[in-house]
Amino acid sequence: MARARIADRAVPAGAVIVGAGPAGLCCAMHAAAGGRSVVVLEKNRAPLVKLALTGAGRCNITHAGPIDEFPPRYGCRARFVRPALFDFTNGDLVRLLARRGLGTVCEEDGRVFPATHDPADVHEALLAECAALPLEIRCAEPALRISAENGGFEVRTRRGKCRAGSLVIATGGLSYPRTGSTGDGYAFARTFGHAIVETGPALAPVIVREYRFAGCAGISIEDARIVVRRGSKQVRRSRGDLLFTHRGLSGPGMLDLSRDVRAGDTIAVSIVPFETEKECRGALDGDARAHGRRSIGQCLASLGVPARLAARILELAGIDPALKTSQTGKARRDLIASRLTRLEFTAARLGGFGEAMVTRGGVSTGEIDPRTMESRLAPGLYVVGETLDVDGDTGGYNLQWAFSSGAAAGRAIARSSRPVTA
Ligand SMILES: Cc1cc2nc3c(=O)[nH]c(=O)nc-3n(C[C@H](O)[C@H](O)[C@H](O)COP(=O)(O)OP(=O)(O)OC[C@H]3O[C@@H](n4cnc5c(N)ncnc54)[C@H](O)[C@@H]3O)c2cc1C
Repeated sequence: MARARIADRAVPAGAVIVGAGPAGLCCAMHAAAGGRSVVVLEKNRAPLVKLALTGAGRCNITHAGPIDEFPPRYGCRARFVRPALFDFTNGDLVRLLARRGLGTVCEEDGRVFPATHDPADVHEALLAECAALPLEIRCAEPALRISAENGGFEVRTRRGKCRAGSLVIATGGLSYPRTGSTGDGYAFARTFGHAIVETGPALAPVIVREYRFAGCAGISIEDARIVVRRGSKQVRRSRGDLLFTHRGLSGPGMLDLSRDVRAGDTIAVSIVPFETEKECRGALDGDARAHGRRSIGQCLASLGVPARLAARILELAGIDPALKTSQTGKARRDLIASRLTRLEFTAARLGGFGEAMVTRGGVSTGEIDPRTMESRLAPGLYVVGETLDVDGDTGGYNLQWAFSSGAAAGRAIARSSRPVTA
């Protein structure tokens, strides 16, 4: 594994980057490749700790779709993310890894993984890239306080001070705090007058009020249709894979919608491949006519509803799964069609930061230049990655954002005419 070099603390840097996650390291690479001396301060004993957990331990590094299809995946931040994503694309990221000998594979749904399916190889490739450049990563050295000094910046750590012309906040959000992301960057950004948009868990499972499907935990429905409603208003709808858990709903389809879910919202799920309740009702009627001796339980199985889930839905509807389809009658078939196409849950809350893959909210993007990630309030200060009020869908979009925003800042630092020392 590439090893971070030990810095001479007396020498001021062109840039100090706080946080050695994907955003911080990609920023460091681009600034250093452009001739700036760079120091990266990392709280953990090693860089890229969170990366090892990504993609269920396989590291879904990015998505293979055309880059102009990426922005809508970041909800209402679509416009903000565009310039950085277009300047450092999914293709650029794949080429960066390839340059270090790591191939990638793309799955049917477009998710891109390292060919070895091992995050440790991504880790190694990124650190090899860093090791070839004039940059230093100081691990186990958290930034404690940052301030503006003499036209540049000063960062205090337990071991002393670090000075630089440019300062990058790359401390991540609040998700999985045991990986080092504990929200320090918000306090740093506030020092310079930045507004922090209210944070909360995103890409998090939904905990359901009075959940009656705990016995169905582990069942997953492919390409379910999911609608989130608040009172009579539809908040968002989407399709995707849905997972029943012990406490509620998860799976990529639910996680992607979770940024818009609030306590008390209704989540209506269609678990059958019909566009409407009427179509589903038609299929049940057809089945009763063609296979009248078959049980309603078998009928639901033929529609692709997993047996345990079908049994629970029928039980809650007060219908015996052994009942012959010819004996179900119109009222029961209406009820079954409505449950299959509109199985309703009430959200109690989202899973906390300990189980949310990303953080919604963060440093307000209104005060950040989207081409460079430079603060509009404090020239020379940059904010990148998850610390910003940007969160993407599942599928590799969050790591791509971390890399793209980091590259944008790194390139801007390399171009900047700010003094190298503070
Ligand atoms: C379980 C899980 C699975 C995920 N899977 C995927 C996936 O498959 N694909 C995908 O695209 N995204 C995935 N994500 C999201 C993705 O990992 C993050 O969006 C991404 O890591 C954010 O990068 P970052 O560099 O902004 O922040 P981070 O990766 O959080 O890095 C921030 C770094 O800053 C350091 N730091 C914090 N405070 C200080 C301080 N005061 N001084 C010094 N250092 C500090 C932290 O220790 C940390 O190393 C997943 C997240 C989780 C939790």
